[in-house]
Amino acid sequence: MDRGESNEEKKRKHSDDDASTSQRSVRAKTSSSMEEKHNIISEPASPPLELGLLPSALVFDLNSPPPQEPPSDFVIPYPPPLTQQLVDPPAAAPSKSRPRRNPSQGPSAGKSETVPPPFPWATDRRATVHSLRYLNNNSIETITGDVQCKKCERKWTLDFNVDEKFYEVLAFIMEKKDEMHDRAPDIWMNPTLLNCNHCGQENCVRPIIIPKNKKGMNWLFLLLGQWLGLCSLGDLKYFCKHTRNHRTGAKDRVLYLTYIALCKQIYPDAPLHP
Ligand SMILES: [Zn+2]
Repeated sequence: MDRGESNEEKKRKHSDDDASTSQRSVRAKTSSSMEEKHNIISEPASPPLELGLLPSALVFDLNSPPPQEPPSDFVIPYPPPLTQQLVDPPAAAPSKSRPRRNPSQGPSAGKSETVPPPFPWATDRRATVHSLRYLNNNSIETITGDVQCKKCERKWTLDFNVDEKFYEVLAFIMEKKDEMHDRAPDIWMNPTLLNCNHCGQENCVRPIIIPKNKKGMNWLFLLLGQWLGLCSLGDLKYFCKHTRNHRTGAKDRVLYLTYIALCKQIYPDAPLHP
């Protein structure tokens, strides 16, 4: 299916005379509870959230009563207040995690270790995105990606609030982790698509993934939309190869690892174990 998209890509034209209209409507749709969550995220004095409390607390109400028996051995690390965040967190600094290569091996022919960052939220390492801390400190609040309707074939750019969407993903993982058994659940394998504001069809708007340009994959956008399952197995193996994760096994296994590894890139303190 990605191959087909490649052809569509070639036909792609910038004829989005009404793109701004569609962006506005999409933004309105995705930002409904953004303010609420921002308040939560930047709240400096809140205690750490416990696992059982996270999903509802993120989405609805911090004051709701805790579950009767919250797991005691597993605490969600609460993001530090923005004012206390470091300029460049050690775990996210690519230069410090740079592997030392044996000079006799060198980079593969024609492949440098670094690439031009394809997006402001991507680093100069393949398949690596900046941490949430870096993004916050550099005022990168919104990330974008291209999408296309499968029905009317229109293309446009979609915005995501990075804090809001990332905590949605993290909350989902925290809630479902025990049921996953290190494999991607069905909703990740067969992601729900968006509805189209142009033609009114449902479950038909998907991200545009360009299979021949893996260096330019918009990993953060795909994570935030929980659309990584739309990647081919080859795309996911590429990600795992360049982020030193195991890359063997069925797609649900590799997809799971990709989700977890990306979440750890964005939030290195997350209690996630691939
Ligand atoms: Zn459409």
